[in-house]
Amino acid sequence: MTDSRIRSIVILGGGTAGWMAAAALANRFKQGVTKITLVESADIGIIGVGEATVPYIKEFLQDLNINEVDFMRATNATYKLGIDFDGWYKPNEKFIHPFAGYGARIARIPFHHYWAKMRQQNKAQELDAYCLAVQMARHNKFALPKANNDVELSSFNYAFHFDAGLFANYLSGIAQQLGVKRIQANVQHVNQHPDTGFIQSLELDNGEQIEGEFFIDCSGFKGLLIEQTLKTGYETWNQWLRCDRAVAMPCASKLAPASATRSLAMEAGWQWRIPLQHRVGNGYVYCSDFISDELAAEKLLTNLEGDALAHPKFIRFTTGMRKQAWNKNVFCLGLASGFMEPLESTSIYLIQSSLTLLLNHFPNNQYNQQLVNTVNNNLRIRQEKLRDFLILHYYANQRHGQAFWDECRTMAIPDTLSARIEHFKQTCQPQIDDMDFFSTNSWLAMFSGFNIQPNYYHPVVDDFDEQLVEKELKAIAASISNTVKDLPDHLAFIQRNITAAQ
Ligand SMILES: Cc1cc2nc3c(=O)[nH]c(=O)nc-3n(C[C@H](O)[C@H](O)[C@H](O)COP(=O)(O)OP(=O)(O)OC[C@H]3O[C@@H](n4cnc5c(N)ncnc54)[C@H](O)[C@@H]3O)c2cc1C
Repeated sequence: MTDSRIRSIVILGGGTAGWMAAAALANRFKQGVTKITLVESADIGIIGVGEATVPYIKEFLQDLNINEVDFMRATNATYKLGIDFDGWYKPNEKFIHPFAGYGARIARIPFHHYWAKMRQQNKAQELDAYCLAVQMARHNKFALPKANNDVELSSFNYAFHFDAGLFANYLSGIAQQLGVKRIQANVQHVNQHPDTGFIQSLELDNGEQIEGEFFIDCSGFKGLLIEQTLKTGYETWNQWLRCDRAVAMPCASKLAPASATRSLAMEAGWQWRIPLQHRVGNGYVYCSDFISDELAAEKLLTNLEGDALAHPKFIRFTTGMRKQAWNKNVFCLGLASGFMEPLESTSIYLIQSSLTLLLNHFPNNQYNQQLVNTVNNNLRIRQEKLRDFLILHYYANQRHGQAFWDECRTMAIPDTLSARIEHFKQTCQPQIDDMDFFSTNSWLAMFSGFNIQPNYYHPVVDDFDEQLVEKELKAIAASISNTVKDLPDHLAFIQRNITAAQ
């Protein structure tokens, strides 16, 4: 058989998506047969937001042999144990979605079945009390999970908050060391094959023409290759996720950095607060039908913890996904592939999981359509599942009397989400399969945070003496609270292990 390997890959865009793609592809094609070129424009720049992640990012770093401390120092990163949802269920009520589980199994039945029964009788605290990571985040503590028998301390995971611009620079250095060629120029024209429509080359404003066999479109919202050239189409999800704008504004840090992302419900959306080592990232994600840009910026400004470090940056978006992530010889990533608001930090996760899928189904120069269909179908399912998880945040609110929230609570939701809610009510078990990113624990965090209670718990629970179960629950909560007392503050942990470490 002849060698049908693809010899040249061109990545358009040098934001988080572009440089993640460049580093991952260069790492895969180390033998040098496949040439990788990345084109980015200094005039256009990157979006520069996207600073909270999920634990999956650690696999990306590990694949590239990146040292975590080195990475955190280079990107001014802090640790993230979950997301602190403030006011989402009702004003002044909070819960945390942790990267962790709750309690401990008793007689092989998951903890939340016992909790469901005891909660009905007001003999249990909020689910948050039975999770070490939640209590750590509530008290601004951090320690790395232990890989030993200490069940409580090993039963959580963590992610990072980092500076998006520094992250792209950091990956750029790694990708270039791995052989990626970087070109700074503007793409002015895209040449396609006259018969097949496959992209053949990019014409740059410096006069160069960059030819390629496979193109990765990381050009941001506009999707220069996947949409403006190939007209692939976009499916919108605005009927369920009503926010369509964000205003972002970094500020000086005044408080010790929290070990969770803060997500504060606002009149027409929500505000994020992402603490970094050197500043705090803030933004208000809102629905333009319910608040003006000026008022949103004003509200954000009054909610900053320190002095603003830049003018407000306004971003417009349309929630949804590209109808096909892979079309002809173009694969799109990041904002070019679609957008879901950063409520659960899923965008960088999606870049990473899309890259993994692509690498596992990488084409040769014959472009087998089965590979394309498999990847596209897989990505559609994954994104629809993420979408449903986000919709639940809005739909389950009890913020009565606020127009935006009333509309969200009364909207028709996708059947897939209704089925999930019903399944949980009937079985006390979230409905999860292999394509779900959010685990049983994540759905439990949401259901309990929004007070969606099951009508059932496992009958084995009734075999246990109620007073004993109550005692056990108290013991778990007390043990967690004692453990947390002895852990270092998040800031002290960073200073000792990241800033001061050589
Ligand atoms: C308000 C907001 C908050 C977010 N928060 C989070 C978060 O907390 N966590 C998370 O995971 N994600 C978050 N995201 C998403 C995250 O920011 C993006 O997924 C990520 O930054 C990837 O962006 P990108 O690389 O696709 O696009 P961009 O950063 O926009 O990069 C586009 C690149 O294309 C280049 N380019 C474009 N046109 C041309 C041209 N004609 N010629 C040459 N080059 C060109 C540009 O120069 C640039 O390098 C957020 C997004 C928004 C909008």
